[in-house]
Amino acid sequence: MARANKIQIEKLNDVKQLVIDVMSSMDLWSEKELSELQQIKLGVLRKNATQRHGVTRWKKGITNPTKPSEVEVIDLHPELLTDDWIAYAAWVMHHEYVHALGFLAHDALFKKLENNWPSKKSKQQGKQFTEYLRRKNAKWLLKCESCQKEYPRQKPGKKRFMCRICKSILVDIPIKST
Ligand SMILES: [Zn+2]
Ligand SMILES: [Zn+2]
Repeated sequence: MARANKIQIEKLNDVKQLVIDVMSSMDLWSEKELSELQQIKLGVLRKNATQRHGVTRWKKGITNPTKPSEVEVIDLHPELLTDDWIAYAAWVMHHEYVHALGFLAHDALFKKLENNWPSKKSKQQGKQFTEYLRRKNAKWLLKCESCQKEYPRQKPGKKRFMCRICKSILVDIPIKST
């Protein structure tokens, strides 16, 4: 976890308000649950995180969490808090709020609840966001010399990887940091 700055806190609160407003129109959640969601502390993940876009962290000592008051903090990726990604940020926040309401596993019920989110398009942005983070954090380009496809990575490939398209061995090209 990293510390959120003032602008990030403002953005997190905007996203939170939007998401809770939408959730209150779903007729699924009680006033009590929604007001408990309001109380959850929000933060940001480390900037160089690439695998996770959001996380719900439970309070210490809680082994079987069931409700929002047992959440220590929900962290979102700081790169989500920009105008470009704000729709996807809302989708991630909703996903974390469903966890916070006591649905821990990504099972069928969770997916059903998650799918109540009105914008289906936002969910599809997940892959694009992963790709965006990869490029942003990349120190190496693993490049296919036959089809020119590039695979941005944080570590060199050392000739261990093949192009997904044409199966040629990828070569490592360092990216100069700017
Ligand atoms: Zn999840
Ligand atoms: Zn190729």
